[in-house]
Amino acid sequence: MNLRERLEEVETRIQKAVLRCGRKREEITLVAVTKTFPAEVILQAYELGVRHFGENYVQEFEAKFSEVSQLSDAVFHMIGHLQSNKARRAAELSDVIQTVDSEKLARRLNQYAEVSLPVMIEVKLSEEQTKAGIAPENLTRLVEFIREQCPQLRLVGLMTMPPYFEDPERSRPYFRKLRQLAEAHQLDCLSMGMSHDFEVAIEEGATHIRVGTALFGPRTRK
Ligand SMILES: *Cc1c(COP(=O)(O)O)cnc(C)c1O
Repeated sequence: MNLRERLEEVETRIQKAVLRCGRKREEITLVAVTKTFPAEVILQAYELGVRHFGENYVQEFEAKFSEVSQLSDAVFHMIGHLQSNKARRAAELSDVIQTVDSEKLARRLNQYAEVSLPVMIEVKLSEEQTKAGIAPENLTRLVEFIREQCPQLRLVGLMTMPPYFEDPERSRPYFRKLRQLAEAHQLDCLSMGMSHDFEVAIEEGATHIRVGTALFGPRTRK
């Protein structure tokens, strides 16, 4: 399958999920995850109508940036774990930062963001040691910190990444939990769901799904 066909297939899956739960297609933003793929792939997806892109690594995105910066209506989301020493470049290059998970990082982003930079907080809902994100019990504090002390940042939502399960149904409790947390803090955006489980995420209220493999095929490990 080529990219056009894969995109059509993903669209069909989104449409079906949306119909199943009585939502509207416009409520869902497809974020095409282009980590490990060259700028060329971003340009191809753009040609086919994709406007939102997700990148994981500041340095990798920086290398592609000159080739994609002319796409004036493309929206670039930082979706990878961010160290605060990368905050400056991340704030300069990205349109949305989905992975704020500490006051330190928020403070740095606030310092370098030029306009009202939309951000989401990454919440760690699993026990896995490797997963980034803030623990749910510390969320309220970070929400308040950003709202009260980071005037350059606009907190729009929450993001999460459950552990990988073969059966996408097993992601559901994590997605549901994220939605409850977002509701409790009056946050509108929910970035959740990847290639194998985005239908379940849509059913649970996702506004942003982050899809890599289903669009671009398998990544070769770095
Ligand atoms: C790589 C990645 C994705 C995309 O995963 P696929 O399974 O390839 O769709 C989504 N979100 C994050 C945070 C990622 O790192």
